[in-house]
Amino acid sequence: MSSEPATPIAALEAQLLLDTFRGTDLGAVWLDADARVVLANECFAGWTGRDVAALSGQPLATLVGDLSLEHLDALRRADPATTPTRLSLRARDGSHRVLEVRAHPVTHAGRTLTTLLLVPIADRVEAEAIDGLQREVLESIALGRPLRSVLDLLCRRVEALAPDVACSVLLVEKNGTVTPIAGPSLPAAYVDALHGAPIGPRAGSCGTAAWRRAAVEVTDIATDPLWADYRSLLPLLDMAACWSTPIIAGNGEVVATFALYYRAPGSAPPFHRRMVEACVPLCRVALQHEANRSEIERLAYFDPLTGLPNRRLFSDRARQTLQMAARIQAPGALLLFDIDRFKTTNDSLGHAAGDEVLRETARRLQAEIGDSATVARLGGDEFAAVLPRCSPVEAMHAAERLRHALAAPLRISGMQIEVSSSIGIALFPQDGVELDRLVKNAEMAMYEVKRAGRGASRFFTSMMNDVVAQRMQMESALRQALAARGLALHYQPKMRLDGSGCAGVEALVRWNDPVLGHVPPDRFIALAEECGLIGAIDAWVLETACAQLAAWQRDGVPVPRMSVNVSPLRFHSDDVPAHVRRLLVLHELKPSALMLEVTERVMLSDDERTRVDLRTLNEMGVRLSVDDFGTGYSSLGYLKRLPVSELKLDKSFVCDLEAEASDRALADAVIGIGQALGLQVVAEGVETPGQRELLARAGCDMAQGFLYTRALPADELVAWLERERGSWTAPRLESIRGGRSRAA
Ligand code: C2E
Ligand code: MG
Ligand code: MG
Repeated sequence: MSSEPATPIAALEAQLLLDTFRGTDLGAVWLDADARVVLANECFAGWTGRDVAALSGQPLATLVGDLSLEHLDALRRADPATTPTRLSLRARDGSHRVLEVRAHPVTHAGRTLTTLLLVPIADRVEAEAIDGLQREVLESIALGRPLRSVLDLLCRRVEALAPDVACSVLLVEKNGTVTPIAGPSLPAAYVDALHGAPIGPRAGSCGTAAWRRAAVEVTDIATDPLWADYRSLLPLLDMAACWSTPIIAGNGEVVATFALYYRAPGSAPPFHRRMVEACVPLCRVALQHEANRSEIERLAYFDPLTGLPNRRLFSDRARQTLQMAARIQAPGALLLFDIDRFKTTNDSLGHAAGDEVLRETARRLQAEIGDSATVARLGGDEFAAVLPRCSPVEAMHAAERLRHALAAPLRISGMQIEVSSSIGIALFPQDGVELDRLVKNAEMAMYEVKRAGRGASRFFTSMMNDVVAQRMQMESALRQALAARGLALHYQPKMRLDGSGCAGVEALVRWNDPVLGHVPPDRFIALAEECGLIGAIDAWVLETACAQLAAWQRDGVPVPRMSVNVSPLRFHSDDVPAHVRRLLVLHELKPSALMLEVTERVMLSDDERTRVDLRTLNEMGVRLSVDDFGTGYSSLGYLKRLPVSELKLDKSFVCDLEAEASDRALADAVIGIGQALGLQVVAEGVETPGQRELLARAGCDMAQGFLYTRALPADELVAWLERERGSWTAPRLESIRGGRSRAA
């Protein structure tokens, strides 16, 4: 190889060669065998940042870093038609240029030169990158990936092609607020802060773009007035410029915005503009795809006419409810509704009117039932609902409520019509635990209603119809009794087992109905709890008992304390402490003269309000007693945590005390617990002297039962106390109230 400097090409030839390339953006260089520049055109010289003249004789490697001699050799040997080589040229100013190079050998004046033709291909590289991005995102949409991950992928690909950019997509909701859905490189705190932000004429880049329905390019967030209201977010953001483009759906609605954030102020370069041009349709496709998917789902699971769940969704949900009910052993009901004579309405008023009746029926059912249960349109004029955790009486109440809601007059095309409906009720588990069976049974009940003249509700079994009819009769009688002072209180003394007399009385409610006769509390208290009357009953009992105690105290009757039963449900619905406080003040009673008997169910309640109420009552000085102790629950932890002062040993343990060693052991244990915790123990249902002796010997404090007396009306109790008082032994301090109690 010769090392002599490249011989210059004759000036004219050179001029001709160079003229050929003038005005193009092609670089051309002629090299000698040692890869030194013989001639270069202006374009190439421009890329290297030197004059054409200064290039002559320069080794190519010093000008184009990527091109070594071996590289050049390979280029020379290659077929220029098929294998262009790419290289990157770093110009003096540091900028890069991606070029495609071809080498051609030429002979000049007996010497072999190499012509290098360099074609800038930045545009093509960028176009290929954008193509790749599009392909990848479209594939992800086609594979049915969730919208969030499709858009996340899109952002990440954009950020990989434009490393100085952070990308985001915000959904624009129908109510004019935004919901971020992708923004993988933006700070999470900033993205969170955008949730629910309204769009508007000065709502940053994205909110304004959505508002204007046109791209908004903010080149300096710190000063642009569009960002004035969002400047407080800047410390979270750490970005200086933001260019946002609205995504407009086929129907003309702005459904999202696509934004590029820049770390430095300034506007977006052309490549980024081309990328955004490609990304906006991609976002639109992804969003449309998502909208189609949810529409398909809606059509598959919801009735298009009424918007209610269809039979399919109803089956899914009802089966879930049934499984849950079986697991927690809670009863419930399935209701089947059929609009009476719907066919006639349809035929006489037309299908549009029929549709309106169905829509209105659906709306009313949904409004009555709310979110607590599933209502569905099974088809035609048939609707269904599953009511979890509901008793037969509650199911009948619900059915009647719904029937009345549907019966309210309805205006359709200027006409007022009334719709009656027939409802069949199947109960679970008793009428079936499988959905199909329940639906069938509810259907039979519903046909029975139709046969009997329509416009009513019925249970599947006739026995249940009788039971519920009876209970509903009892319920209305109880309502009347409560309103018309048909309830009374009887009082049963709690007697000290040391023989020193009466420690107090328990108020027990009595109901003597003109038709039903004497109804025992065990029957009507449960009913009252079911139909929501218990609060009113217990309130009446508390008021009456307090008034009675105050009267006795005025009259010097030796009743130191009044015990009143309070249902667990009352704690849920009423402010018991406030009621008690009012009554204590009204009747000038000492709080310690009142004791509330509650069951373990109340003590174990996980209702925060109940626990707070119990503590408040205790702080007021009111005593608490655990009624029916030993039945039901085994957890005793609450005795330590809650302010209890008395345990009532349930009468079921007392009645066989003499015969059953196990009951004796249990009584001993309860008395032991009471003593250990400093609580008074009262035995309920004491009927024989033998029971009394056993309890006294075991250390029980008090007894209550027929051995002394059954619960008596107030005046009879006073007479009873008068008679008994003579046999009581030494008085205890507690029963001397204002000197009124005379010891025997
Ligand atoms: P309880 O609070 O455990 O009341 C004791 C029950 O045992 C009373 O039944 C009483 O009459 C009965 N009893 C008393 N001594 C004997 C006896 O020696 N042998 C037998 N076998 N029984 C005896 P009653 O009055 O029928 O009340 C039943 C339940 O109804 C009460 O049990 C209480 O849980 C509830 N109750 C009564 N009145 C009210 C009230 O005003 N409000 C609420 N929420 N529940 C009440
Ligand atoms: Mg009681
Ligand atoms: Mg009891």
